[in-house]
Amino acid sequence: MTDIFLKIINREIPAYIVYEDSDFLAFLDINPVVPGHTLLIPKVCIDYFYDLDNQTLSNMIICSKKISEGIQKTFHCKKVGTAVIGLDVKHAHMHLIPLNAVEDFNFSKHIQLPQHEMMKICNNIKNNINT
Ligand code: AMP
Repeated sequence: MTDIFLKIINREIPAYIVYEDSDFLAFLDINPVVPGHTLLIPKVCIDYFYDLDNQTLSNMIICSKKISEGIQKTFHCKKVGTAVIGLDVKHAHMHLIPLNAVEDFNFSKHIQLPQHEMMKICNNIKNNINT
């Protein structure tokens, strides 16, 4: 089965990338639940989050903190919510979501933002992540 996120890692398809290092990549969710909804993935191709080795898992949590701080700085949201679902895309990932109300954490309600808006959000988060 095609790993769509591997295609993003390999730059075979475009994405709004906000962060990259040797082990992880973060980019905007193409169908966000709220503006700023970001996905953090490991570069290693593993389907289930909890099948990642312990070192990768702990590094990923530390990396998610860095990305979340960039999201928080961008949106001035109350919290950044974290979710692991993985029912759709078979490449481990964390959802990082700017939250002001519990309703913001609704995965049955996706939105679509125009390209220029996604680009603006991407650049703002990128600039607010301390590397
Ligand atoms: P899940 O596997 O249920 O955690 O959901 C996968 C998430 O990946 C969904 O929120 C999708 O909108 C998102 N997604 C799927 N394809 C892409 C893509 N090419 N670029 C960015 N986000 C994507």
